[in-house]
Amino acid sequence: ATPTAIMVGTGRGARSGILVKSAEALEAAGSAHTVVFDKTGTITAGTPSVVGVHPMGVDEDELMTLAAALEAKSEHPFAQAIMAYADERGLSKSYAVEFEQIPGGGVAALVDGRSVCAGNASLMSNRGIAVESADDVARQYADEGATPLFVACDGVLAGIIAVADRIKPTSAHAISELSAMGVQTVMLTGDNERTAAAIQRQAGVDRVIAGVLPADKEREVARLSEAGHVIMVGDGVNDAPALARADVGIAIGNGTDIAIDSADVVLMRSDLIDVVSAVQLSRRTLRTIR
Ligand code: ADP
Ligand code: MG
Repeated sequence: ATPTAIMVGTGRGARSGILVKSAEALEAAGSAHTVVFDKTGTITAGTPSVVGVHPMGVDEDELMTLAAALEAKSEHPFAQAIMAYADERGLSKSYAVEFEQIPGGGVAALVDGRSVCAGNASLMSNRGIAVESADDVARQYADEGATPLFVACDGVLAGIIAVADRIKPTSAHAISELSAMGVQTVMLTGDNERTAAAIQRQAGVDRVIAGVLPADKEREVARLSEAGHVIMVGDGVNDAPALARADVGIAIGNGTDIAIDSADVVLMRSDLIDVVSAVQLSRRTLRTIR
């Protein structure tokens, strides 16, 4: 596009809350073959809450006390949900030591001398903790779009805490608009396949890539870009390398600083309809030259 068209396009974007950092990004967005969305905080609101508690062999208060002690040391959105739930119930506070975070798996620590961990099925399996007795409960939560977190104490399952995050009100509409414009939509998440499939049904994305470790998001974007230009949309620290790797990285404005720094486009609002607008803006800018 001509410098004038780029200037006009950039100005138009800025007025509607779409900040474009480079001419290349403005030009590339319109020819995107695929838009990849992070799930938590991008398609969903990013403020999950506890929607179910299923204790096993302990009572609910004990399960939540152990989990809250552990999650007090974590910064994951799931941790905030569990802390808020425990606070609302005025549960006594235990203190965790030797805290450990397992990327893409969960958290572990010592609580009152007991070895406690919380996270997904693969974390449990890596620690040799049997979860078969809870499979049906976990599956039910996941099919409703919630994430079942397994909690174990001294090598034995102590229960499941289900945490769920709503999709943003406009996500499904924005995704269907992209489909109508001939763009493939993909959701990328560290969450499990079943929960991701339930969110896929609500959001309407064409494809889901679930169970992706934080370090592997970038590689998935690189793989998708073999088929054509890729736009990556994300908000988290985890998303930064993938945002940088994509042909166009779009950061959600209320996302983390590192995501905003790594992106080519920043949305002032956290509404995915602005991703549609960015693609349209690019297409209009390119048309101006011809
Ligand atoms: P995402 O950002 O998509 O949630 P993460 O890599 O942060 O991906 O997490 C992947 C999975 O690891 C989560 O779905 C959850 O099952 C587990 N997990 C991560 N952090 C925690 C935590 N603090 N407490 C319990 N489980 C966790
Ligand atoms: Mg996110």
